[in-house]
Amino acid sequence: MDPLVIAGGPCATFNPEPLSAVIDAFVIGEGEVIMPALMDVFYQARNEGVSRQEMLRRLAQVPGVYVPSLYEHSYGEDGRLQAIAPMENAPAKISRQWVQDLDMYPAHTVVRTENTEFNFYLIETARGCGRHCRFCMAGYCFRRPRNRSLSVVTREVKEALQYKKRIGLMGAAISDYPEINELCKDILGEGLSMSVASFRADSVTQELVNSLAESGLKTLTMAPEAGSSRMRAIINKGIEEEHLFNAMDMGLAAGIRHFRLYIMIGLPFEQEEDVEAIVDLAGRLKDYMEEHGSKGTLTLSVNPFIPKPFTPFQWLPMADKKYVEKAAKVLTQSLRKRKNIIVGVESPKEAYIQGVLARGDRQVGEALLTACANGGSKAFKRAMKDCGLSMDDYLYRERAADELFPWESLDMGFSREYIYQEMKKAEELKPTIPCFDGCHRCGVCG
Ligand code: SF4
Ligand code: SF4
Repeated sequence: MDPLVIAGGPCATFNPEPLSAVIDAFVIGEGEVIMPALMDVFYQARNEGVSRQEMLRRLAQVPGVYVPSLYEHSYGEDGRLQAIAPMENAPAKISRQWVQDLDMYPAHTVVRTENTEFNFYLIETARGCGRHCRFCMAGYCFRRPRNRSLSVVTREVKEALQYKKRIGLMGAAISDYPEINELCKDILGEGLSMSVASFRADSVTQELVNSLAESGLKTLTMAPEAGSSRMRAIINKGIEEEHLFNAMDMGLAAGIRHFRLYIMIGLPFEQEEDVEAIVDLAGRLKDYMEEHGSKGTLTLSVNPFIPKPFTPFQWLPMADKKYVEKAAKVLTQSLRKRKNIIVGVESPKEAYIQGVLARGDRQVGEALLTACANGGSKAFKRAMKDCGLSMDDYLYRERAADELFPWESLDMGFSREYIYQEMKKAEELKPTIPCFDGCHRCGVCG
């Protein structure tokens, strides 16, 4: 029977197929509402001494549990997925399960050790994001946006007092938390310091920035993602230049000298002018810093865009590697003469492996295991070849509107048609407004 390998969390589950050979069951959605039923079924089956196969069959009946071995994937002569057939009474679709009322499940760090990546006392203030950025897997797969009550979060802050650790506030966009100013006051009022996972430049407040600066933050990070307003309209980012300059003002007023921008290159429908616009924007923000007395650094963290499952861009090709390398070169060469601007570009090589894994099928899983046995990511390209798979086909092929995707046993709550229309809206630069109470647009809220 053992071991039974169960995986959860967004990276493993938005497209579980490349891992399907090594994972027995995936938890699709939020553990709080899936794990109790999963554990009941597990213990009952184990007490009855059922076979491993019977255990898997029973687990597959738990809402939100996906057992990949109970789904047959068949491929056409072109090597592309043709059909997915559930077997042994497994459900045709696995619906993502999510928590309606976050207050029922306060979430904070439980394993307190110095030996962690984030040596904070983490408190989750909110989950999901309703901003509809079209590239963002988190935005699509954690809908709808939900906040914990301030009273619940402040109770968590009081709990943290005994550990004397910095508070790390978790959420897709912390500045969207409606009571962020009060929460900052509470945390600093308790004599604690704080950090945030991320904030949006259009909703950040002076109180939040002051609190971060008082907590020792040296660099304020903003995520315009793109340099031109055209490109930001395509991705529905909703951040305009005025928001960036306002957020910079807040940072400067709080004594923060350094700033960082998250930028993507190779976005859908991107043109040369959009790349030049990144150079232009960085130059103007740096000018602004200097005009306001900051000799600090402006860092551009640049990542090649990777189309992700369950987003409107899941049908689109990833930009050609040569194009991305050229765009990265434009950024580094144009900005290198400018003192105190640093451009850091993620390795396109790694990004293209991520690109294959993001939209890969079970066949890619074979290549993953082969690469793992032969040296890891360095051996991935060779492993794909040895398995008779073309990286280019996974990366650069525009998918047909009705193509069956490997991840389509899962149901995230919105229809395929809805996200396809979002892709069309991107092409036409049409905006999509954020989630609101009473909205039923995408289907997640019934
Ligand atoms: S604001 Fe946009 S990028 Fe950030 S989590 Fe929300 S949808 Fe994603
Ligand atoms: S139905 Fe509306 S409010 Fe609910 S998640 Fe979808 S877009 Fe957001």
